[in-house]
Amino acid sequence: MDLQGRLQKHQEAGLYRQRRLLSSPQTPEQCVDGQSLIGFCSNDYLGLANHPKVIEAMVTAAQRYGVGAGASHLVNGHHETHHDLETALAEFLGYPSVLLFSTGYMANTGTLNALLDRKSLVVQDRLNHASLLDGGLSSGATFKRFNHGDYSHLDQQLSGDSPQKWAVTDGIFSMDGDQADLRRMANVCAKHNAGLMVDDAHGIGVCGPNGRGTVAQQGLGVTEVPVLVGTLGKACGTFGAFVAGSEQLTDALVQFARPYIYTTALPPAVAAASLTALQLLAQADEARAHLQQLQSRLRQELTAMGYHLWDSVSPIQPVMIGDAAQAMAYSDALLKRGLLVTAIRPPTVPKHTARLRVTLSASHTNQQLDQLLQAFYDLRHLDRSYHGA
Ligand SMILES: *Cc1c(COP(=O)(O)O)cnc(C)c1O
Repeated sequence: MDLQGRLQKHQEAGLYRQRRLLSSPQTPEQCVDGQSLIGFCSNDYLGLANHPKVIEAMVTAAQRYGVGAGASHLVNGHHETHHDLETALAEFLGYPSVLLFSTGYMANTGTLNALLDRKSLVVQDRLNHASLLDGGLSSGATFKRFNHGDYSHLDQQLSGDSPQKWAVTDGIFSMDGDQADLRRMANVCAKHNAGLMVDDAHGIGVCGPNGRGTVAQQGLGVTEVPVLVGTLGKACGTFGAFVAGSEQLTDALVQFARPYIYTTALPPAVAAASLTALQLLAQADEARAHLQQLQSRLRQELTAMGYHLWDSVSPIQPVMIGDAAQAMAYSDALLKRGLLVTAIRPPTVPKHTARLRVTLSASHTNQQLDQLLQAFYDLRHLDRSYHGA
């Protein structure tokens, strides 16, 4: 089909998307399309994207090392700032080895394609991030899904006699904010002699002791979760991603993961900024406690207003609306009140589960949350038909 026809169909189906233009840092007060707004849709959970120490680390490193890495890691773009960040991440997570990737999308597709072959079986939670699903589908392995959080279904899907089996899950689910039960998954995996890969993009920095994420929070490590992926563009406030595992795993990824091999290394200054951000993140217990308090308040007060919320344990708090057009109307009404909350619609989420995805940050104040809650209160009284199906 021609592009014009496809675009028109997309528009008619209500799926057409447009980018907003941000002209300020990623902070709660933002300038979006020329309008001053309070944002509730950033992944910058700890407010590190605009932290003066992180900015300073980046500027200092750029002055010393320049901007571009100039080459891929295997040619001569592997800089000492990359090395220092890998070492610090391994120590922070308590994993033997860490390998940096340019993005989380590449870490997931690259790792799955390197680990799996045609004889392998990979079983994924239905609600996994698109990069995990894409990696599994493109690997050539037998690809199965299990119903979200249904570990007896996982058990069934893992049976059979493939020579190599992997189960894959998000640590915290990006559209729902709930957490995988990794201990149960690890038990199911052990029974089938399967490996477990966890993408904790939204958990690292946010939960667990010192912000070490979902794996550490559940008392697990490299034995139960031999492949742990994290991203640096979320709570860390910078850019990039990593895979943690055994020395053998990261060695194999350097040799076989094509999105690692055939791409320019991250700018060294970005790695330097990430190292500073990681140090701040590890000491951010106060920020995490504030975030937790904002989360509890939001949940308590919206539930009391009659909104239907998910069982989310994270700063990602979806408010269920149901109908896609109605979710858009809510989002537009919030925007008129100077509040930016994105509506998430199918196909990103299952049909009839359109939602407003509120994400909180430790840099939000209680006064900013008051404004959001007041707006939700007003809307609830305008919309008598709300049932949050
Ligand atoms: C954001 C995200 C990614 C992608 O990471 P990028 O570095 O932005 O490419 C992967 N997995 C999950 C669960 C994510 O939320």
